[in-house]
Amino acid sequence: MQGIESLVEGEQKIVLDLHVHSTASDGLLTPPELVEEAVAAGLEGMALTDHDTVAGVEAAWAYARARHSSFWFIPGIEMNTDVGPHEVHVLGYFIDPRYEPLLNRLEEIRQARFQRNLKMVAKLNAMGYKISVERVSELAQGGLIGRPHIAQALMEKGYVFSIREAFEKLIGQGKPAYVPRYKFLPEEAVQLIKGAGGVPVLAHPGLIQNDDLVERLLTLGMEGIEVYYPEHSEKDIERYLEMARKGGLLITGGSDYHGTPEEYRGKLGCCGVSRSAAKSIKEKALKSKTNENMEIEVDDKKESYQKQRIDQFNTRSLE
Ligand SMILES: [Zn+2]
Ligand SMILES: [Zn+2]
Repeated sequence: MQGIESLVEGEQKIVLDLHVHSTASDGLLTPPELVEEAVAAGLEGMALTDHDTVAGVEAAWAYARARHSSFWFIPGIEMNTDVGPHEVHVLGYFIDPRYEPLLNRLEEIRQARFQRNLKMVAKLNAMGYKISVERVSELAQGGLIGRPHIAQALMEKGYVFSIREAFEKLIGQGKPAYVPRYKFLPEEAVQLIKGAGGVPVLAHPGLIQNDDLVERLLTLGMEGIEVYYPEHSEKDIERYLEMARKGGLLITGGSDYHGTPEEYRGKLGCCGVSRSAAKSIKEKALKSKTNENMEIEVDDKKESYQKQRIDQFNTRSLE
């Protein structure tokens, strides 16, 4: 793993990590701890991009403002969406963490995902597999409940010998206790992010492993593409840079740091962008069109409102 000093993007040094998770989703560090670690790693800024939540944004921002006034904090999110069998993640930068339509929709999605797991447990119970929702929640340790936790509960009771067996026999796609995932589409994520005054970016396209789909996704209103990512090869980077150039898209990057000692995905700051790249994202956010449901009507008023929203979350403006 290279140090931050040795990483350059073009002629510019990488100083901002634009993909980081906290305890608000599945990361191990709290938002203030992340800011502290980013400063210690020599980064000038960071975007907090928790999965389907903005719950950590205000804490990170307040902490950065109080303790590290020169640190550039960007409010963000990473939304998990589905396209057929593919999981597609959409990053949003400079979003307003208090934008109600976004918060309401996130809560609906959370509820729907929770219901899905309840339904699977109910199906299993009806089939004679006596596992409880309480135990499954305990296994998730306060995090989002998923099928692996259901599989673990089945294993504990001796119904299956492995997680894999639980999926193959019971809870895998098309198996008797399976309930389809709640579908949330990338185009809706894009609209929500834009509605919240943010810039939607396609996350880690390399993980989708289908460039035709990637090209299609980029036409859904995405304004950027996450080119620099720990699991992208040199070839991936070249290809995605080319796509960005062709589509006039912003180029972003980040480590997908989750605070785990074994460096899950990447170390904080191992991937990122230069100050000028971050500045371009901010400019885009300032120009971003709000969606039609926004309550503000007059065009220039819209602009000034957004400017205000973005600036209130910057601890410093990049000159
Ligand atoms: Zn992701
Ligand atoms: Zn991520």
